[in-house]
Parts: sequence; structure tokens; C-alpha cells
Amino acid sequence: MQVFDEMESEVRSYCRHFTEVFVKASNATMEDSGEKTYIDFFAGAGALNYGHNNPRIRRRLVDYLLEDGITHGLDMATKAKASFLRRFRDVVLKPRGMSYKVMFPGPTGTNAVESALKLARKATGRTGILCFTNAFHGMSLGSLAATGNAFKRGGAGLPLAHTTFMPYDGYFGEEIDTAAYAEKLLDDPGSGVDRPAAVLLETVQGEGGLNAARAGWLQRIEALCRSRGILLIVDDVQMGCGRTGTFFSFEKAGIEPDIVCLSKSIGGYGLPMALTLVKPEYDLFRPGEHNGTFRGNNLAFVAAEEALAYWEDGEFEREIAAKARLMQQSLQRMCEAYPACGGTVRGRGMIQGIAFAEPELAVRLCRAAFERGVIMETSGPRDEVAKLMPPLTIERPLLEEGLRRVEQCLKLLAEHPSDATILAGRT
Ligand code: PMP
Repeated sequence: MQVFDEMESEVRSYCRHFTEVFVKASNATMEDSGEKTYIDFFAGAGALNYGHNNPRIRRRLVDYLLEDGITHGLDMATKAKASFLRRFRDVVLKPRGMSYKVMFPGPTGTNAVESALKLARKATGRTGILCFTNAFHGMSLGSLAATGNAFKRGGAGLPLAHTTFMPYDGYFGEEIDTAAYAEKLLDDPGSGVDRPAAVLLETVQGEGGLNAARAGWLQRIEALCRSRGILLIVDDVQMGCGRTGTFFSFEKAGIEPDIVCLSKSIGGYGLPMALTLVKPEYDLFRPGEHNGTFRGNNLAFVAAEEALAYWEDGEFEREIAAKARLMQQSLQRMCEAYPACGGTVRGRGMIQGIAFAEPELAVRLCRAAFERGVIMETSGPRDEVAKLMPPLTIERPLLEEGLRRVEQCLKLLAEHPSDATILAGRT
């Protein structure tokens, strides 16, 4: 690790938690330089829904490279982009009766969010964005202004403006309807809350603690937007591409966002790519008004097109549902078996985790898991949730083995509640 310590900026982050040098990876396993194998319950922060080095996608990429396919990334018209667009229309949009123009922003989640915010402001002539407690939308200034986390906001170096935070579903407990609260504030001329250009939300808050909004809440927020001429933007950067069980995370709630942000796993192979899906009436940028050098990552288009094969029939959805059930049941059982840990299950689909009353336990659980060959991260404003997010393609026996190891770690936490040395692993 010496070269990283010496040369790389202090801002490096994940490598401080997973303190090995990684060399190889295949589907849901990673191997370090000492040939130790890990089960990957992190999936590149959600960029590897189809696993590491997915063989069918790799084949397409290798062929494309050997054929001298266009690799550079401007938004030129290329064969790879045309094929991706056709497949996206036929496999994703058409079967769902969706009509969106596809915009390619720069290849990151935050760029998709920035473009969505700009469009909403352009469409409405308003500046404000209504966003939610514990939201995470990215690190560039517009997205960061809509992100709740105080530590991340502190990095901005200037005041973050034009956002109003409302309590997310469940923020005050299940009984309090925070959609009604938002509605009252928006309609009250004395509330001090101006009508915003858009409401921006995640259906499950991946970084903010695995808080999952209920379908009824999402529907009420949508209705609130519709009746007041406010755009609804769903940030599906982490929850999209099947993470919660369906291609888009909002499908089961039956809502129709005006703009959808996709990134992370849309690139199929962990390759940088992002999409901003825009209802045709809001496709308002003039040519190049939101531009960038890397708007057309052709390798990612090739990978993304092949990855969409998983969505051609219902088989993948059924597979995700079965694995999600296994995760839910196992985590539930573990929490009940070790009540001393005070854990409760959070999340939806194949992003679930254990929320601890004592945040330190989540950090220690993740460290202990790493020692035992499982890669997983914390989530939540106090790092109080240990989050499991394996590739959707993980083999079932490996998922079971990973869950067994998590359970062993939880057992150790219960038996040694304050023994940092056993559980802390390396610092
Ligand atoms: N939105 C959500 C919901 C995310 O989870 C993330 C990344 N964790 C982003 C936006 C930002 O994506 P990126 O890091 O690619 O800019």
C-alpha cells in the first residue's frame, strides 16, 4: 500500500476500508495480491449489478476492441451508440410503455443529476429544488446542494443553495405522513417554502441508510408534483438497473417521473456511463448546452447493450426476487438470533442491511467481515447501517456463504460487545 500512501491524495476513501491491493475479480469474487479471495457484497458501489468481468459482456468488448471499434468518447454518432439506443428502446422503454428522450451527460451519476436539475429549472423558470433528508445525489455542487450528509456538504467550500429539505418517508416513524407535511408547506403562503422547479428523490436511499419509501408515499409525492406543475425527478443511479428487483426502482409504485437519472450499472461492466431520461416536453437543452468530452463512452455502450439481454424476459427479475428473499430472511433471522446487537433489517430487493442502534457496531461488522473475506460497506449519516449489495448475478451458494460469514461476525459482536481488538481488524 506504500505507493498509495506516498503518492495518492488524502481524499482516497474506499481503499482505506478495504486495505489490500486487488488483482483479479470474477462475478461476485475478488482476489488480492496475496491470493486471498473475497466475496463481494459491495459490487463497486452498485456499478457491478452484472458482476465483475461478466463473460458474455467481456466477449463483446474484446471483439469490439479487436475490430477497431470507435472507443473515444465524444457524442459522435457511432454504431455502438445506435445499437445501444435501439436495444434500450426495445427492451426497456417499449415494454414499459415509456416515452423518454435519452440524454447522455458526462459519464457519472452526479452529471445525470446536474443535467436533470438544470432542465427542471429551464422548464419551469423556478430555481428551487425540493429534496429529502438523508438524500445522496453526488459531489458536484448542484447535486451536493441536494445531498443531506453534513460531512460531504462541508467539502463544498461555499454555501450550497437553492434546495429545501423535507423529511423523507419514515423520517419521523411510519405513522407520520411526510408527503402530507410537504404538501401543507407548499400550499401555505406563510410557510416560507417557495414552489420549487422539481422534487428530487431516491426510492431507496442507498447512501443515506437504506431508507425505503413506501409506494403510497411515492404516489402522493407524484400527485403533489402533478397538481402544482412541479417536475418529478427520480435519481435511480444506485437503485436502477435491477437493484430493487425491477429495471427501474419505481416500477412497482406505478409512478411516472418526468426525468430519471441512471448511471453506475447502466454501463454493464463497471464502465463509466450515465443517462438522463427526459419526458419529450422537457427535452429543452439547445445543442451542446450541457456538453462534455466523455458523453459517448462507446465501450460502455457495447457493454450496456449486452447487459440489457438480462431484461429480455422475466427470468432475471424472478432470480433477483428469490435472492432478495433469501437476504431478507437471513438478515431477519440473524437480528433475532443476536438481539444484544440491537440490529434491524433495512432495504429492499438486493440492497439490504442491518441498522444498528449503536453505529460503531456497523463499522466493526464491516471490518470483521473484511477479515473473513467479505467486502461490504456502511451507509447512513452515522455509518450506522451495514449494507449488503452483491452483484445481482451472484451464484446462490456464494450468497449463502457470504451471509453465513456475516452471521458469524454478528455472533462475535454479540459475544464481545466491547472487544475492539477481535473485531476491529486493521485500522
Ligand atoms: N445518486 C445516487 C443515488 C448515488 O448513489 C450516487 C453515487 N453513490 C450518485 C448519485 C453519484 O454518482 P457518481 O458518484 O457516479 O457521481
